Amino acid sequence: MTRITVAKGDGIGPEIMDATLEIIKAAGAQIEIDEIEVGEKVYLSGNSSGIAAESWDIIRRNKIFLKAPITTPQGGGYKSLNVTTRKFLGLYSNVRPCMSLHPFVETKHPKMDIVIIRENEEDLYAGIEHQQTDEVVQCLKLISRPGCEKIVRYAFEYAKVYGRKKVTCFTKDNIMKQTDGLFHQVFDEIALEYPEIENEHWIIDIGAAKMADTPEIFDVIVTLNLYGDVLSDIAAQIAGSVGLAGSANIGEECAMFEAIHGSAPRRAGQNLANPSGLLEGAVMMLNHIGQTEVAEKVQNAWLKTIEDGIHTYDIFKEGVSKQKVGTKEFAQAVIANLGSNPSILKQVSFAKDVALTLPKYVKKPAANKQLVGVDLFMHWNGTNPNEIAKQLENVTLENTNLTMITNRGIKVWPEGFEETFCTDHWRCRFKPNSESKMDKGDIIALLFNAAKANVDVIKTENLYEFDGKSGYSLGQGQ
Ligand code: NAD
Repeated sequence: MTRITVAKGDGIGPEIMDATLEIIKAAGAQIEIDEIEVGEKVYLSGNSSGIAAESWDIIRRNKIFLKAPITTPQGGGYKSLNVTTRKFLGLYSNVRPCMSLHPFVETKHPKMDIVIIRENEEDLYAGIEHQQTDEVVQCLKLISRPGCEKIVRYAFEYAKVYGRKKVTCFTKDNIMKQTDGLFHQVFDEIALEYPEIENEHWIIDIGAAKMADTPEIFDVIVTLNLYGDVLSDIAAQIAGSVGLAGSANIGEECAMFEAIHGSAPRRAGQNLANPSGLLEGAVMMLNHIGQTEVAEKVQNAWLKTIEDGIHTYDIFKEGVSKQKVGTKEFAQAVIANLGSNPSILKQVSFAKDVALTLPKYVKKPAANKQLVGVDLFMHWNGTNPNEIAKQLENVTLENTNLTMITNRGIKVWPEGFEETFCTDHWRCRFKPNSESKMDKGDIIALLFNAAKANVDVIKTENLYEFDGKSGYSLGQGQ
C-alpha cells in the first residue's frame, strides 16, 4: 500500500480526478489517499503561492503527488504552483510521452511514439534577471554538472527499463559552448555507460524541425529546460493529443504526476472533460511506485476504450468515433475494459522494474581554479569604442592590459567594424600582461580606478581556467 497526496484542483480538475481514481482503484491500485487543497481557492484566500504550509508537510511526507490542473487567477502577484513545486521538491526531470493513437485520434504523424525528457530546474528558468543599463536587460542561464548528469542518466535509465532503442540529445552548443556544451559533453560521457542504447546529438533548431516533420525517427529525446518546454508542447500537439497527454515530474525524493492541459474552466461541472491526460499521469505514477501490473492493466484498457471509439467530445469525430460519452461514462468504459487489450493500437507491457532507481549525484573533486582575467561590463552612452579604450587607460593597472571590448558579444575593439550596431552595454576584458598573474585585489583596484574615473561599471565577471582549461568564451569575431 502506498500513501499518496491528491489535489483535485480547479475547473474540470475534480471530475477528471474522480474518474482517474475510480479507474485505478478498480484496476487494483494499492493506494491510500491524503487529499489537499491547492489552487484558486487558496490563492484567493490571500496565499500567493496557492498552497498552504501544512499541505507541503503532507506532500513531503508521502513523496508521491497526483495533481489535477489548477486555475491561476488573472492579475499579478500569483506564483505558479507548478514552478514552485518543481523547484522546492527538486523535481529535476519532466517526462512527457507523446504517442499517436492513429487511426482513432487524428494526427499527421501516425507512427509517432516519442518521450521527451526535459531538465526541469535550471537553465533560464532560474529567473535571475536584471536591468543593467537604459537599453539592456539580462537573464542568467545557469547549467550545472549535477543538473546535466541527473537528467541525462535519467533519460538513459528510462530508455533501458522501457525498452527504448535510442536517446537523442538536443542542444545549441555551436553557439553556447559553455552551457549547452556542458550538457552535450555530459551526454557523451554518460552514453558510454549504455552501449546497448543508440545515442545521437542534434542542434536544437534543425532537430526541432525534424521532430515536427518526421517524429517517427526519434525515440527518447533529452534536452535543457527551455528547449524541452517548447518541444514537449509541439510534440503533444502534433501527436494529436494535447488533451490526452500526461506528464511526470521526478526528483531524487519526491515525484508529481499530472495532465499537461489546464483546468478548462468553461467545461467544468458538465461531465464533459476527457480524463485521459490525468489518467496517463496516474499510469506513470503507478509505474514509479512499482505497481506496474496495475499500470499495464489500466493502460491497455484505456487504449482498448479509445480503439472501441468511445470518445469524449474533444476527440469525437464522425465516422471514426462510435459513441460520444461524458467523463463518467468514459471512466466506466475503461473499467469495463480492464483485463482486455487493444488489437490495433500497440499493447503495452511494463517490466517489473520500471520504477527507476538512480544513483545519487556524487560530487567530483574540485579542479585547480586559476584567475586569468576579468570582464568589466559598463554602461556608456557613446558610440565609438576607441573613446572607451582611451578612458580605460586611466583604469588599467601596471600588471593588466585591456585586451578587448565587445558590445552584445561582438568584438568592437581593437579593430571593430563601423557597421556593428552598438547599444549602451560594453564588456571590457582585462588580462594580466604576459609576465604577471592576477588576483582578486587587482579586480578591486580596477573597480576603484573605474569609480574614480567616473566609468559606470555595472558588473564584473571573473575569467577562470579550470585544470588549465579555459572557462569562458571568446568575443565573437575575436
Ligand atoms: P486549458 O488546457 O485549460 O484549455 C485549453 C482548451 O482545451 C480549452 O478549449 C479546453 O476546453 C480544452 N481542454 C483542456 N483539457 C481538456 C480535457 N481534459 N477535456 C476536454 N477538453 C479539454 O488551457 P487554458 O484555457 O489556457 O487555461 C485554463 C486555466 O488552466 C488557466 O487558469 C491556466 O493558468 C491553467 N493551467 C493550469 C495548468 C496546470 O495546473 N498544470 C496547466 C495549464 C494551464
